[in-house]
Amino acid sequence: MDVESEQRPLKLYFIPYLAAGHMIPLCDIAILFASRGQHVTIITTPSNTTTIDSSLPNLHLHTVPFPSRQVGLPDGIESFSSSADLQTTFKVHQGIKLLREPIQLFMEHHPADCVVADYCFPWIDDLTTELHIPRLSFNPSPLFALCAMRAKRGSSSFLISGLPHGDIALNASPPEALTACVEPLLRKELKSHGVLINSFVELDGHEYVKHYERTTGGHKAWLLGPASLVRGTAKEKAERGHEKSVVSTDELLSWLSTKKPSSVLYVCFGSMCSFSNEQLHEMACGIEASSVEFVWVVPAEKRGKEEEEEEEKEKWLPEGFEEKGMILRGWAPQLLILGHPSVGAFLTHCGSNSALEAVSAGVPIITWPVLGDQFYTEKLMTEVRGVGVEVGAEEWSMGGGRRERERVVISRDKIEKAVRRLMGGGEEAEQIRRRVHELGNLANAAVQPGGSSYQNLTALIAHLKTLRDSNSVSSSMPPLH
Ligand code: UDP
Repeated sequence: MDVESEQRPLKLYFIPYLAAGHMIPLCDIAILFASRGQHVTIITTPSNTTTIDSSLPNLHLHTVPFPSRQVGLPDGIESFSSSADLQTTFKVHQGIKLLREPIQLFMEHHPADCVVADYCFPWIDDLTTELHIPRLSFNPSPLFALCAMRAKRGSSSFLISGLPHGDIALNASPPEALTACVEPLLRKELKSHGVLINSFVELDGHEYVKHYERTTGGHKAWLLGPASLVRGTAKEKAERGHEKSVVSTDELLSWLSTKKPSSVLYVCFGSMCSFSNEQLHEMACGIEASSVEFVWVVPAEKRGKEEEEEEEKEKWLPEGFEEKGMILRGWAPQLLILGHPSVGAFLTHCGSNSALEAVSAGVPIITWPVLGDQFYTEKLMTEVRGVGVEVGAEEWSMGGGRRERERVVISRDKIEKAVRRLMGGGEEAEQIRRRVHELGNLANAAVQPGGSSYQNLTALIAHLKTLRDSNSVSSSMPPLH
């Protein structure tokens, strides 16, 4: 590649999927590319622009209207993370299908060197093939989970065989409807020029990078994370997200700083999971019995609009419980919380971002998977890397509806036991804490110059420039190996 070409920035379009757990990490990855001097445009719909700080140099925004009227949604509901029920989720899904047209129109008039799009868009492969634009796929799962999803099932649907770690027994079996939905998307992902993963090689393991490439016939996996580490300042951390935080940075940090190191349990189940009042009550009783202080994020939907409704909804709250910790009703600045030295463990649904953010901050986790890829990520964190303990969730929800709450209740005893295992002292807890601390150091080193993810990004940018400059830039090229 000549010097002129090497210096000419790539023109890249990023298309994040309309769900917080997909959008937040892909926007962080977009910042990584922009911070390396590439010309990045994020394409999304108006209500989803809150996740994006377009004041950054080289980072631009293009919005296309969300077809709210066509799918029968009120204005402003443009994300799965804003959907309160299955019907709304279905309509958001319908709306996403219709986004192809305005995005295609924009791209036809303003061609890019490469599109980086979430693998969940059902039309993205057809669109980029038709326009002859190279595509990189973004998959928010850790590579370990992706390998597990693609792996053969063992004698039961719980058992994954043939992974570098041998057989792995999941705690639940994926719903058939989920598999039916994801498999075609994963097949189409293989038609892209490679997959971007928001993880780092030291977490997923070199052996999984090789395994992935070998079992997919040479599809390339680029591990570029943890991208959340691009948010360096308290302000950048606090402003990251799909909604505005319900607590001020000052209030939060001054409360946390009155607590002893590693004494606070952080509880948050991401943007999609919700629980019955019965389960919330049991969770509160389990936490109370373990005698730790806590920061607990309860989704905003728990606040009824009318007083009467609110009273009904918060019946799960045990008398006097709230005074023993901090309950945040709505969106919390998770990176700030995890980064505080008084936080000693994280009770999480094992969403790929939350798990990675905990590791990056050196915080051990208690895993309580609910849906999606969370049961795979649980195994990466517990059995494979040994940085967490399992609460014992054994029911894999189809998800999609934040109000899907008819699940088996996990008892207060199990919750208390898991919290005590990590926060009650003892050799096991010490070892876990040491391991996650080491992994956290590796995570931070990975994104620094010379680190594995940093080098991967350098190599990827060079690779895309070569691709741009070659005469055969078209979808007819074979995938890059
Ligand atoms: N998050 C946050 N505050 C909240 C809830 C979630 O900042 O109150 C962020 C969290 O840091 C993570 C993302 O939202 O980056 C959730 O992604 P994850 O994969 O953990 O879970 P999902 O929402 O996809 O289930």
